[in-house]
Amino acid sequence: MDTGLKGKRALVCAASKGLGRACALGLAQEGVEVTITARTAETLEATAAEIRSLTGSKVTTVAGDITTEAGRAAALAACPDPDILVNNAGGPPPGDFRDWDRDTWLRAIDANMLTPIFLIKAVVDGMIARKFGRIVNITSASVKSPIPTLGMSNGARAGLTGFVAGLARQVARHNVTINGLLPGPFLTDRLKTTTAGLAAQSGRTIEEEIALRAVSSPARRVGDPAEFGAACVFLCAAQSGFIVGQNLVLDGGLFNSTMG
Ligand code: NAP
Repeated sequence: MDTGLKGKRALVCAASKGLGRACALGLAQEGVEVTITARTAETLEATAAEIRSLTGSKVTTVAGDITTEAGRAAALAACPDPDILVNNAGGPPPGDFRDWDRDTWLRAIDANMLTPIFLIKAVVDGMIARKFGRIVNITSASVKSPIPTLGMSNGARAGLTGFVAGLARQVARHNVTINGLLPGPFLTDRLKTTTAGLAAQSGRTIEEEIALRAVSSPARRVGDPAEFGAACVFLCAAQSGFIVGQNLVLDGGLFNSTMG
């Protein structure tokens, strides 16, 4: 399928590793010029070099913390008028809500709710003017099925999802779509970090814990980030303009439900 994305510009946040990287690579494979961000310049440059050599697409890097105003300003300066925005940032830490004070919560809300909202605010009017825009928010399956130890993720991401549910319907007539991609367990550094706590409690290795999670999934495995990148490309395709305000769960069937 020709996705019609050749020559488009994308800003993909938090994309030196994991799911963000997979989205950037998937888009670059479609001929999209990508601007990728992450805090660690070295890893970011290595990923950019890899995507360039795999795809031949133009890749621009912006090192910085996307959850800060300065980080967002730098990303937008490098890619002021993207056709595609992929919102992503690190996830909040697990824990017990009794231990989280106001500042801890504000960090999570900044990263997983307000950062995507401010980036959308910065780019959506340009997309409307150009009559093409695709915004994909990487959230979590926890939006639909809360993960008890990840209370800040459950809360902050649900806030973002509620906000964009309304906005998506205000901009859709301009061929600007906003949708969510909700990952279940994908084999990334984040999964290894969140599993490390379980492993410490159980005495099993991280690999054994991940294998246990895989067995409990209808697909009997965890996700490959490349599958996530392909879903991102699908939502960004020119043909996807009628997919509006949706939240696509990618979890191998873990979320047990007859419909959505
Ligand atoms: P990952 O493999 O740890 O990669 C995270 C990427 O984001 C890295 O490139 C990291 O680079 C960058 N990053 C983190 N914080 C950043 C910040 N403040 N500013 C700019 N870049 C930042 O994580 P992942 O698995 O791809 O997860 C991506 C998102 O999906 C997270 O929010 C995670 O909670 C969520 N999620 C993941 C899973 C899963 O199973 N993988 C499941 C549900 C939800 P630097 O560290 O150098 O900045």
